[in-house]
Amino acid sequence: MAKKQFKAESKRLLEMMINSIYTHKEIFLRELISNASDAMDKLYFKSMQENLGITRDDLSINLSFDKDARTITIEDNGIGMDKDELENNLGVIAQSGSFKFKQDNSDADKEEVDVIGQFGVGFYSAFMVAKKVEMLTKKYGEEQAYLWSSEGVDGYTITDAEKEKNGSVITLFLKDNTEDEDYGEYLAEYKLKSLVKRYSDYIRYPIKMPVTHRKPKEGKEGEYDETTEIETLNSMVPIWKKSKQELTDEQYNEYYKEKFLDYMDPLIHIHSKTEGTATYNALLFIPKKAPFNFYTKEYEKGLQLYSSGVLIMDKCADLLPDYFSFVRGLVDSEDLSLNISREMLQHDRQLKLIEKSLERTIKNELKKMLNNDREKYEEFWKNFGLQIKYGLYGGYGMQKEFLQDLLLFTSSAEKKLTTLEEYVTRMKEGQDAIYFACGESVAKLDTLPQTEMLKEKGYEILYLTDNIDEFIIKMLVDYDGKEFKSIQSSDADFESEDEKKEKKEKTEQNKDLLGEIKKSLEGKVADVRISAKLRSHPVCLTSDGEVSLEMEKVLGAMPGNEMKPKADRVLEINADHPIFAKLQFLFDNDKEKLAAYADILYDQALLIEGLEIEDPVEYCNKVCALMV
Ligand code: ADP
Repeated sequence: MAKKQFKAESKRLLEMMINSIYTHKEIFLRELISNASDAMDKLYFKSMQENLGITRDDLSINLSFDKDARTITIEDNGIGMDKDELENNLGVIAQSGSFKFKQDNSDADKEEVDVIGQFGVGFYSAFMVAKKVEMLTKKYGEEQAYLWSSEGVDGYTITDAEKEKNGSVITLFLKDNTEDEDYGEYLAEYKLKSLVKRYSDYIRYPIKMPVTHRKPKEGKEGEYDETTEIETLNSMVPIWKKSKQELTDEQYNEYYKEKFLDYMDPLIHIHSKTEGTATYNALLFIPKKAPFNFYTKEYEKGLQLYSSGVLIMDKCADLLPDYFSFVRGLVDSEDLSLNISREMLQHDRQLKLIEKSLERTIKNELKKMLNNDREKYEEFWKNFGLQIKYGLYGGYGMQKEFLQDLLLFTSSAEKKLTTLEEYVTRMKEGQDAIYFACGESVAKLDTLPQTEMLKEKGYEILYLTDNIDEFIIKMLVDYDGKEFKSIQSSDADFESEDEKKEKKEKTEQNKDLLGEIKKSLEGKVADVRISAKLRSHPVCLTSDGEVSLEMEKVLGAMPGNEMKPKADRVLEINADHPIFAKLQFLFDNDKEKLAAYADILYDQALLIEGLEIEDPVEYCNKVCALMV
């Protein structure tokens, strides 16, 4: 009989499994049991929809092993598979397309753990411990059964077979022991029992296995009666129905990793039982890291939705607002009808109540983490802060009150992350605004000439480095009654009354000089002014009006070539800087040179702002001309 080849990707995954150095080889059992449980869920669900009369009590998983033959079998009476399904499900893995192997095989070992964890390779994990795997399966309602068999990368065969009942039997022919690995260790009652307890305790169908008990023979010292009984190994109580006291962090973490295919423990879990307007149990997790596709269109948000312990939807998007889309987990409610359709769910009042309640719960947990475990929160923020920001912006500020206290920004003081609340409590006497600057990096922003004076006064500046930040600030308008002010805006007035007066006088005195510079920079700047923002630097660039320089940059980089808004640039000059006296001198004696100086100063202001200068060659020529 001709062997069929695995699809290329499957083959490579299989190779990895076979040569696995994965330390948790034992998870193969969990994976196969989980598949069996899914297959029974499918049958149960079908039965409910089509009135087939199958009850939960009819469904179970049978586990057994044969020490001599070195085999383990896992049997279910679930939905089973027909020939095409066998072909498609076990011949190809990860059809999602998101699964891409690195071409570089030398890194295979390092990547292996990630691959196993992230994609839940399920069935193939059998090859970590087995040299040969067989699956005998018969689809519910069909006559013909099939035997799928494979010894690894060489391919697989599918043959017609006999099987009385629907469902699947998987037989693992364990690998021979090696110096480093004892594959035979799974051929023991206590081992299998403990693996089921550890990884599959909450599976909602009984996992049964013949268990042998020894009793001393009456009256005969040293002799025993052995009886074998079929026992159910798992407690079958879903983890979320257990009380928090019963559960350890490790159990929560294991559950999360298995069910939500992550290889890392979650950052936190939230286990809540709520009664009242909405009655439900929820078990939620915030992952440690954003999934690889989190910020792409492919990422689907949603929670599993159970109705009295039965899964009715795998990704119920309506349970999570977009800004909490990173939350994984499940909700189980008795208030929902089992036969509810997707369309009906969207309008379900109960679901809306649950969503509102979950939203508050998640927010409170985040707040709690922020207050009690700052390090953890900052880790959360690094991964998902952007999502919170989008949420704030996306809702046209409707979520402002709700989300603003979750925000973190880097402050000029110590370059540490701070909340707005913390910023405000640290505000100095006389400081009436929250100052911020937008740009590429904290390091660059920290060198802006405008920061110097504020730092002298002991005012903090928030350094905003995400593209969306400035839009958020616009949306917030103020915080705790304190206005936000950009230090890159021309009208940010952080000078004292005296300084303001002085600035006005100097402007008056140098009106003609400023006018001349403005003329020579025509088309480049909207205005040239004396600055009261500067200490040791000669110039800085700010903007008038709504569109800031940073916004111009962000909008300019977006796709689409419709008219992009431009910032009205203002060149601010430090009248106390020696260069200013020089400008005054040139104004009186050499207008041509004044124009060259104006150009150079403008270009310098652009460079400091992190903007491109129009003609770098011309700029260099001008500077050189001054140097010789
Ligand atoms: P996953 O379970 O993540 O989809 P697997 O590789 O474990 O990936 O399984 C692939 C598919 O094979 C499953 O989605 C399911 O359709 C099918 N399958 C696996 N085991 C069984 C089983 N015991 N009964 C019926 N179908 C199964």
